[in-house]
Amino acid sequence: MATYTPCVNIPKISTIFLGYVSELIRRRLQPILDIYDVKDRSFKMINIDFSLAISLYILIFLIIILIAWLVNKKQKDKDLNVDDRFIWHCCVCTYTYINTKEDMISVCPRCGSYNKKLSKATT
Ligand SMILES: [Zn+2]
Repeated sequence: MATYTPCVNIPKISTIFLGYVSELIRRRLQPILDIYDVKDRSFKMINIDFSLAISLYILIFLIIILIAWLVNKKQKDKDLNVDDRFIWHCCVCTYTYINTKEDMISVCPRCGSYNKKLSKATT
């Protein structure tokens, strides 16, 4: 008559599982270990497939474009600062526009009405 002992199998299963996990980790790390030359303390030539090379190329290209765009945007934001005395608010159509030529009265480009510069309450 065979005796049933379920507790004996549990350490065996965990050993198999740990062995499986360590094998997975070793397989993942082996390519990294293979490309590093311990004697020369340098990396060997890396073999990557064509699709990975193309995707890396596109990724680097996009990162460069993103950085250039961010730098350009920051520069544009700096250039957009206009003096408050050149900003006009039309009191008829509530249009906001920039006029650097006139000081006292300016013509609204949208509705054509004359606007007088309001004196600032703070000054
Ligand atoms: Zn207007």
